[in-house]
Amino acid sequence: MRFHLLASGSPLRVREAPACLSRLNGKAGKLHMVLDREIALTDLTDRSIEISSGITPRITPRAKHPISRRMIDEEALKVLYRLYHHGYLAYLVGGSVRDLLLGKVPKDFDVATNAHPHEITNLFKNSRIIGRRFRLAHVFFKGNKIVEVSTFRSHSEFEEVETEAGEIIRKDSFGTPEEDALRRDITINGLFYNIADFSLIDYVGGMADLERGIIRTIGDPGERFQQDPARMIRVIRHAARTGFPIDGATYEAIFRYRDEIRKCSPSRIRDEFLRDLKEGAARSSLQGMLETDLLLSLFPEFQRVFGDRSASRENNKQFFLSIFSLVDQLVQRDRTLPEAVLFALFLFPLIQAVTPEHPYLGDKERHLYLAQTIRWVIHQLLVPFSFPKGTKEISYQILMARSGLERAIQKGGIPRRLRMKKYFKEVVLLHGIIAEAKGEKVSSVLRRAVPSDLLPWWPKEIEIERKSHLLRRRRRRRFPRRFIPPR
Ligand code: ATP
Ligand code: MG
Repeated sequence: MRFHLLASGSPLRVREAPACLSRLNGKAGKLHMVLDREIALTDLTDRSIEISSGITPRITPRAKHPISRRMIDEEALKVLYRLYHHGYLAYLVGGSVRDLLLGKVPKDFDVATNAHPHEITNLFKNSRIIGRRFRLAHVFFKGNKIVEVSTFRSHSEFEEVETEAGEIIRKDSFGTPEEDALRRDITINGLFYNIADFSLIDYVGGMADLERGIIRTIGDPGERFQQDPARMIRVIRHAARTGFPIDGATYEAIFRYRDEIRKCSPSRIRDEFLRDLKEGAARSSLQGMLETDLLLSLFPEFQRVFGDRSASRENNKQFFLSIFSLVDQLVQRDRTLPEAVLFALFLFPLIQAVTPEHPYLGDKERHLYLAQTIRWVIHQLLVPFSFPKGTKEISYQILMARSGLERAIQKGGIPRRLRMKKYFKEVVLLHGIIAEAKGEKVSSVLRRAVPSDLLPWWPKEIEIERKSHLLRRRRRRRFPRRFIPPR
């Protein structure tokens, strides 16, 4: 194996050198030259420890950024150090660096390295290679904890790259740290935290965009969205989560390429879209999708509900957004809403829009009519994205039951048959969220039928009532008859 150092261009910051040098020392490689401040290495074999670069990254030393090792997950640190001590580059990447800089607690800590997957699994006995499109390693720790370690890539796993020979490359296109930063979606997600000296490495202008508070794609937005249209959903979600505006060119490109979203694989749309609904910023994400019309490109049937700017359509939008702002409130209080309830809420405005009132229909016909409408809406909105069949079925059941519940409450009671359903709580959740979004009161009959803390906006008088009831019962128990002393 021969290694050459390049004297011109392709600089690697000297602070990255120790890791490379220690890696080289272990091999039969020869080091030809060390420049004063910078070195660059080219591996002439097919192995890619090349760290050559066209861009000089902005390096922020430890003293100039707030990320301390105490803020990093213990297991992720172990992984970073182990890789580093074995001579590999080891960076914390993606969402974790972004969140730490924003003062948030990251959901997960991902690691990127120049070690190849099999080298990673050699280093960590508690690891396994996963991934069909791009192989990466999962390192397992106690308590089902996983640290994801991926080798630097030259392009995203979701892009298809055509070589000069016309070959489509998808798998294992390992790359340099710079290439790995450039293949990422938005600038604030392209930052690296280097365990070698605790500095931040920024090839993409992510630090400046974090400081200014803006969401921008890495590279030309039009090109990046055509390569992988799911990035449009991601841009809107990150804007919703951070509260940052979307950069003008990025926003225009979403508007322009919004119809490309249908080219994306249904399972990817499903995964990204579910994250939108579940992660606590659903209202702003959906608002962004409505403003850019991306929502209509994804779900053309929504044209009937939100299609133009008429007053009724505006009301529909406000109702839809209020539903999801209530969902966000619940998520922020650590309540996990079942997927079936989320889907049912998502479908509800369309069901309402296409179910006109038929005053002459009897109960049976109305039931059949509603059943068909719900099935049709599920078919239009959920089936194209292969949402799980079981969940779709529960959504159908609880939407039907909600309508039954509404009629039962009007008559003054909840039939036992409905109370005994195994998804009764979900039906009440659905009903409670919809009623609150409409500004309607929910009858106390219904509130008494479920745990008093099911929905945080429900008045607490029931709880007080229940407590006093319990007290009364307890008091009776405390002085049982047989202990009353005879006079
Ligand atoms: P979260 O906090 O929600 O996990 P995240 O930014 O970590 O946000 P992930 O889906 O976990 O999002 O992705 C990890 C990283 O992978 C991202 O930060 C981004 O750099 C990169 N990435 C994810 N999806 C894409 C994509 N479609 N195109 C390019 N890069 C992507
Ligand atoms: Mg993540």
